[in-house]
Amino acid sequence: MSQSSALPQMVTAISAPLRGIPIAQASGLSTLHTYYHALFVAHGPQHWWPGRTRFEIIVGTILTQNTSWKNVERAIANLRAAKLLSPAAIRTVSSATLSKHLRPSGYFRQKTKSLKSFVAFLYEHHAGSLNRLFATPTATLRDRLLSVRGIGPETADSILLYAGKQPLFVVDAYSRRILERHDLLPLEAQSNSRRSYEQIRSLFESHLPRDPQLFNEFHALIVQTGKLHCRKSNPLCPDCPLSRFLPASHHPSTTHQSPVASHRSRIALP
Ligand code: SF4
Repeated sequence: MSQSSALPQMVTAISAPLRGIPIAQASGLSTLHTYYHALFVAHGPQHWWPGRTRFEIIVGTILTQNTSWKNVERAIANLRAAKLLSPAAIRTVSSATLSKHLRPSGYFRQKTKSLKSFVAFLYEHHAGSLNRLFATPTATLRDRLLSVRGIGPETADSILLYAGKQPLFVVDAYSRRILERHDLLPLEAQSNSRRSYEQIRSLFESHLPRDPQLFNEFHALIVQTGKLHCRKSNPLCPDCPLSRFLPASHHPSTTHQSPVASHRSRIALP
């Protein structure tokens, strides 16, 4: 992904306002689109998702649950060294051997079952072919992925966006936290439920051009912002590229409460 390919897309669409997301008057872009622009200018392209093949990306989306990317990289390196980074190899290797290679990623027994389940699904419905998998209509494929053991909405959408290049926005704890701290999270989405996930996904998708490249970059930029600035405790607002959008009542310079403290009474963040 290059900067030159992403920038022109940022000015192509103007989205309609929805509850809690006003149009940014000065630029004509939706507020979320303006956030994207600010993050892209600050951090540049993130080059997600790291992976040499679509299957490796899918493996990464499954292994990254509840662990750091460094641990995922170690597990993927094990799989590569053992020549197990293909659906056919994962299908035939024993669960015990696969578990051994996945151990660095944590929860390795669960992840062994998830990876085996995904590959079983791939063979049962798509003859083991990722081309056939991604030729399936997106909504149908998403429903099918969600029925696979160990694949929840965030993993399904990561597979569809990063491996399938489908325009699905990936919602995570960081995106939820940033929206909430900026007073952009609709009341009905203020829970950690599956319904709330879908509402936040819909909010992003309806206020941005349905461009997989943009969704790819925006999600990666949100993760970067969450890691560098929007921490669960003690967010580093003054140095954050989104600080100018922080509601005045929550800004550290105008309140003794941090954005975390000011909201904690209203919603329990992930
Ligand atoms: S660190 Fe502060 S300014 Fe940055 S996204 Fe979080 S709440 Fe907003």
